[in-house]
Amino acid sequence: MRQVGHFIGGKQVAGTSGRSSDIFQPMDGSVIGKVALASAAELDAAVRNAAEAQPKWAATNPQRRARVLMKFLDLIAQNNDELAELLAREHGKTIPDAKGDIQRGVEVVEFSLGAPNLMKGEFTDGAGPGIDIYSLRQPLGVVAGITPFNFPAMIPLWKLGPAIACGNAFILKPSERDPGVPMRLAELFIEAGGPPGILNVVNGDKEAVDAILDHPEIKAVGFVGSTPIAEYIYARGCANGKRVQCFGGAKNHMVIMPDADMDQAVDALIGAGYGSAGERCMAISVAVPVGKATADELVKRLIPRVESLKVGPSTDVTADYGPVVTKAAMEKIKNYVDIGVEEGAKLVVDGRGFKMQGYENGFYVGGCLFDNVTKDMRIYKEEIFGPVLAVVRADSYDEALKLTNDHEYGNGTAIFTRDGDAARDFASKVQVGMIGINVPIPVPLAYYTFGGWKRSAFGDLNQHGPDSIRFYTKTKTVTARWPSGIKDGASFVIPTMN
Ligand code: NAD
Repeated sequence: MRQVGHFIGGKQVAGTSGRSSDIFQPMDGSVIGKVALASAAELDAAVRNAAEAQPKWAATNPQRRARVLMKFLDLIAQNNDELAELLAREHGKTIPDAKGDIQRGVEVVEFSLGAPNLMKGEFTDGAGPGIDIYSLRQPLGVVAGITPFNFPAMIPLWKLGPAIACGNAFILKPSERDPGVPMRLAELFIEAGGPPGILNVVNGDKEAVDAILDHPEIKAVGFVGSTPIAEYIYARGCANGKRVQCFGGAKNHMVIMPDADMDQAVDALIGAGYGSAGERCMAISVAVPVGKATADELVKRLIPRVESLKVGPSTDVTADYGPVVTKAAMEKIKNYVDIGVEEGAKLVVDGRGFKMQGYENGFYVGGCLFDNVTKDMRIYKEEIFGPVLAVVRADSYDEALKLTNDHEYGNGTAIFTRDGDAARDFASKVQVGMIGINVPIPVPLAYYTFGGWKRSAFGDLNQHGPDSIRFYTKTKTVTARWPSGIKDGASFVIPTMN
């Protein structure tokens, strides 16, 4: 049985708290390892180590820091197959999808290689008589990331790439469900020449998280996970004076206009609704066809496609999607389907009974499709995070827009139409952070920022792109003059440019 401890001071260390959690292999339901759950004392040891290493890393010139990350990327590429298999076995997603998970993380580290340029400040020559003003960006010190189970490579890389490139030391607290890839990434960072103490992995649960939130040496916390935890972490971290950004749950709507290309819309919904078993914060979980004819046609075409989805073990590269992460997740999803039926939604494809031959103990849920879902139902209001798509029929474009805007979540949304005016109006008026126009999963590329609105995000700076450099640095502004510019005498009036 694999024992996963922590990665502190450049090496793996065993957990000492006496607490651990099982690591499952969702495709067959077996326990494949145990991960240590850190105590506050273990977290403190990691922070002290990081705080000791950080000043030297910050003083290393930014091009040299970027070169370590270049080598790190090289090693990720060399170990891609192994990382993808490890990820798929612990998470459940298919190996090709696991490669996508790694790649979207890699792209943010690639963006972070530009830190020497991105961290540059501003300079005003002669802002006053003999006076120059300049600004600079400096790292914060020790910063932390708390990440969810559903992208165990991508989201840790989104956080550690910019943080480390900017000269911080980073403490990663990954999901206890799938800690294998984060631990391997920490090893590869050392192999790439990264100094010990700059990338640490502290595994754990609420106890480790609370220790992070309360630790005075940790200056910033980036979180991704469900909304209740996001809100909790935001409140506690801010109350302790930290810089905090928290990204939460989602219920992403896709509006299908009567003039949309129906083949494209159906393909988009199948991929975005059921890919990775719906366990993506940018998955489409609500389809909003506009008008009865559009809705009837959409549902008619979706039914055979959902019925013929190929669910398979994570190692089957031909599967459309694999198992969900845990037995508890599987039961929760099926329970939501039961609730939807009780609430009066029309379950037109029922995947609750799906069993994977040869993998009977795996955590599988077949594709489910609901029609006639209404906005008062729990299956509409709450995040299910599984392969369940809800069709909510709207009579008009305005109703579809209002529905999207009234939902408490605002992570991503999409509109499918050929009408530029409608698309433009939607992009302008919708109260959501990331919009797709005929693009179902509009995750911005690494050099733009990622973040939702409303209860999908707490804090004001997004992930990756220029915001990530702002989040992981603080600005210092210097006003300087030399003796020749100094006038004699004390001044008691505030200096102005009058
Ligand atoms: P989760 O909230 O259960 O866990 C996220 C992290 O918080 C984990 O590291 C976990 O150990 C920790 N945690 C869990 N319970 C805690 C508690 N009571 N106190 C302190 N820490 C706790 O989320 P998850 O199930 O791992 O991930 C799925 C969720 O993440 C979904 O809601 C999904 O929408 C969301 N998500 C959001 C984004 C985004 O960018 N908005 C991206 C990916 C996932």
